[in-house]
Amino acid sequence: MANEQIVRGWVVRASGGWYEVDAALDGKPHGLRLNCQARGILKKGRREVSQPVVVGDEVEVRTLATHGVNARGERVQEGSILRVLPRRSELGRARYGKTRQITVANLDQVIIIMAVREPDLNTHRLDRFLVLAEANDLDAVICFNKIDLINKSTFKREIAPIQKLYASLGYQCLATSDETEQGIDALRALMTGKISAFAGSSGVGKSSLACAVQPGLHLWIGDVMEIGKGRHTTTEVTLHPLDGGGYLVDTPGIKTVMLLEEHEVNLAECFPEFHPYLGQCRFNNCIHHEEPGCAVREAMQAGKITESRYQSYLRIRDEFKLRPARYSP
Ligand code: GDP
Ligand code: ZN
Repeated sequence: MANEQIVRGWVVRASGGWYEVDAALDGKPHGLRLNCQARGILKKGRREVSQPVVVGDEVEVRTLATHGVNARGERVQEGSILRVLPRRSELGRARYGKTRQITVANLDQVIIIMAVREPDLNTHRLDRFLVLAEANDLDAVICFNKIDLINKSTFKREIAPIQKLYASLGYQCLATSDETEQGIDALRALMTGKISAFAGSSGVGKSSLACAVQPGLHLWIGDVMEIGKGRHTTTEVTLHPLDGGGYLVDTPGIKTVMLLEEHEVNLAECFPEFHPYLGQCRFNNCIHHEEPGCAVREAMQAGKITESRYQSYLRIRDEFKLRPARYSP
């Protein structure tokens, strides 16, 4: 290729003023890696934006004739970021008394991994992840994983009704197994062309699924060790390219990056099935607990809102009130 040209790509890693940009080359996704600086942008008055370029940003880059070494010690061509395209979303972490620090831009969806066994499925935990996704305005997909550990009739009796409930709330649901490869193609198809992040407790199979979707991809372990060089690798966010296009976000625990602050988030609004009843309660500051004339509680009693979901709402409210720090880093 010509040494200097303008290309579009995605910032997949950022460190010390350098941005690693992944761009398509000759119609092939991820054909070109560039080590970029963003001096031009900083000069052009984007300085007032606290983080003009972050991982996940789509950027326009002028490729340069020079080469440098990226964070992994690989020799890559250099470039200069000319422009950052408008962000579709921003995911950040709260910094106490400071502005929000954006961790990743343009995330399209969070894929919540829940094992059906080892550990047993816990819908309250699922509801907490869903609330975090809703609070950040992100699409959520639910992946019921390790389904090889239960037989068909157990699945029908135990998991299918849960799947039906969450599908009725508008969440896309999948059943997967790394052992039998069931659902892996469907999961991969759902991630193609998008920026996704996995969320879920430890041990549910996130790393195994990542590797099944994209052979050779080793989340966390391999990567963190490679970056090294004395940086705070635990907060480093990386986008891993997917062969068919799109990226998987690698972050040590997406939970800590998601933000839930009372003054910003109305918890009841994070439950889609509550929406028709919000504003219908007798008191306009109703917290939908024991107030008389609460439309949400009445809807639950009438069977229009599932009790487990209503209980999750109350529990999250409680946990949140008692330990607000739990949801911030
Ligand atoms: P992570 O902590 O969420 O990344 O979970 P891992 O991917 O490390 O998996 C935790 C454990 O569950 C490992 O022992 C895996 O071998 C096992 N595991 C992962 N996926 C499956 C699956 O689909 N079926 C079964 N039976 N075991 C699985
Ligand atoms: Zn109410």
